Amino acid sequence: KKCVGVLALQGAFQEHIDFLERAALENCYNVTVIPVRTKKELHLCDSLVIPGGESTTMSLIAQRTNFFDDLYTFVHSSQKSVWGTCAGLIFISDELENQNELIKTLHLLHARVKRNAFGRQAQSFTKVCDFSEFIPECTDFPATFIRAPVIDKILDSETVKPLYTIPNNDEEDVIVAAQQGSNVLVTSFHPELADDDIRFHEWFLKKFVVDF
Ligand code: GLN
Repeated sequence: KKCVGVLALQGAFQEHIDFLERAALENCYNVTVIPVRTKKELHLCDSLVIPGGESTTMSLIAQRTNFFDDLYTFVHSSQKSVWGTCAGLIFISDELENQNELIKTLHLLHARVKRNAFGRQAQSFTKVCDFSEFIPECTDFPATFIRAPVIDKILDSETVKPLYTIPNNDEEDVIVAAQQGSNVLVTSFHPELADDDIRFHEWFLKKFVVDF
């Protein structure tokens, strides 16, 4: 039986847990989903979801609870899969366009990430996106962006493949979903807030957990 952990230090972890549990149930996947706050819980997992929230806070909690190094080792293992959403994308990136001295990242995703790329909280939005190029038949997914980061620059184009782009405020196309190798997925947006639409989580479970 496979185990998916959702990092539960801070942020929107409960929504991910609920969506993953529903996706597993509806597809009869033999998968357990657990919140992860300790090394012991992390060691039960085959896969880790790092939720949205506030990336500096998440990184500081990990550092102050002596959990950072365990997370580092876990996410860098090619035997494990990892999905970072929003703050989770920031937390696993290699480089930040607007670095601050408090946030230490896990340097997993070979990309430069720009935080708050669409502006402040008030500029949050939901956009219906056609993901059918990577999620079969998913032509109309409601993707919610909340102070969302974007991938500004791919640092290793051999391993990091963009999955989806949207125009930013300057009408330039920016990357909001990407995959690195076969085991790392990142999204700028929050599929766990797509009320009742579990298609993204179903795809993640199939591709990055069950068939991985
Ligand atoms: N802007 C937040 C950060 O820097 C991320 C926002 C989110 O996860 N919704 O961490």
